[in-house]
Amino acid sequence: MSADSVRPGAEVDAYCTSCKADRRHRIIAVVGTTPKKVECLSCKGHHLFRQTEAQKAAKAAHKRASKSEVGTTPRLGRSAPSAPKRRTEEDLVALWEKAIAGRAFDSFKPYRITIPLVKGDLIRHTKFGEGVVAEVVDANKCEILFKDGVKMLAHSIQA
Ligand SMILES: [Zn+2]
Repeated sequence: MSADSVRPGAEVDAYCTSCKADRRHRIIAVVGTTPKKVECLSCKGHHLFRQTEAQKAAKAAHKRASKSEVGTTPRLGRSAPSAPKRRTEEDLVALWEKAIAGRAFDSFKPYRITIPLVKGDLIRHTKFGEGVVAEVVDANKCEILFKDGVKMLAHSIQA
């Protein structure tokens, strides 16, 4: 179901609570991209949108397929070091791009092990390129998200 087809007046397949069967319905109200209230074209009854059995099955199948990603949406700075790392490469690249996109050249500090870093700092590493501090692990270690992944680097090391 494309978002475009979900709008008041459009027709969808839905389970009719009056007919007790899957019927063609006209959408009356939409919340977000989901039909909220529908009118059954068979019995003309108005009721809350309910998925057909087929839609439910498809959704369940999709949920199973993408289960490994559910609940692991990467959020900068929220990753506990002990949490299992289930973020995919694509997620990290997207996260990195979001953090780096549109930043001025001079918002990046040249990375040196001596400089103290805090979460969210933008740095430029001679080897790994531009990165963002994802997590300060301890006084001398931090995780930095680079385009090719998270690296554990030293910081605040007094020479
Ligand atoms: Zn009906």
